[in-house]
Amino acid sequence: MIIKVLGASGGIGEQAPTTSLWIDDDVLVDAGTGVETLRLAEAARIDHVFVTHAHLDHTVGLALLADAAGAARARPMVVHALPQTIEALRRHIFNGEIWPDFSVIPDARQPYLAFAPVALGQGIDLGEGRRITPLPAEHTVPAVGYHLQGNRASLVFSGDTYGCDAFWECVNALPDLRYLLIETAFPDRLAELARRSKHLHPARLKNELNKLARATDIFICHQKPGDVEVIMDQIGTCLRGNPVKPLKPGASFDI
Ligand SMILES: [Zn+2]
Ligand SMILES: [Zn+2]
Repeated sequence: MIIKVLGASGGIGEQAPTTSLWIDDDVLVDAGTGVETLRLAEAARIDHVFVTHAHLDHTVGLALLADAAGAARARPMVVHALPQTIEALRRHIFNGEIWPDFSVIPDARQPYLAFAPVALGQGIDLGEGRRITPLPAEHTVPAVGYHLQGNRASLVFSGDTYGCDAFWECVNALPDLRYLLIETAFPDRLAELARRSKHLHPARLKNELNKLARATDIFICHQKPGDVEVIMDQIGTCLRGNPVKPLKPGASFDI
């Protein structure tokens, strides 16, 4: 399984597109503004999109992808998400006002888009040894992280989250964990805003990482543009001796 980072930022600007991971040539995890870098032929090959939660920085590309690539595809692009996330997408985006309801266009039997509900801990088999499993997360709206299982190793993506013990229980149960991509949206001076919006900040990240019982490479994502260096400096200071890197577009992971 090859995972390429199309976007990993907590906001636009500074040429930092928002969250989207591209897996092999047929799967996305989240569809933020990072999907804009896909060529049309590449977009048309996306069969599955696993969505962490309904927030626009993770879903705006979903609407545009369905429109751009739908006519070039023989079957619907399947959007996997929690039932509450699917409900929010249907009600607020694919509602015929903000955007057409591509789950019935061009017709209900062969639409551009199909929704498939996921449940925590229940993996979806994508063939060729690839499996994606929703993990617990703690955010202002229903949200999940994802465990990506390849033939050789595992990668975990936290999605948007605050502290979440259930997440770490799942992570620590993965004997072949190789990479952890975890959000840290705010610097410590905005700790209160982080708490209210249920995002991590460096001091809270340190607390969370104390619950990690496995050795793994750690990459930080979803930093607010303009605060990336401050956030990474604060993480470096509080995690003495444990190098962590910022997740950048163009990075790739082979599991
Ligand atoms: Zn969010
Ligand atoms: Zn977000």
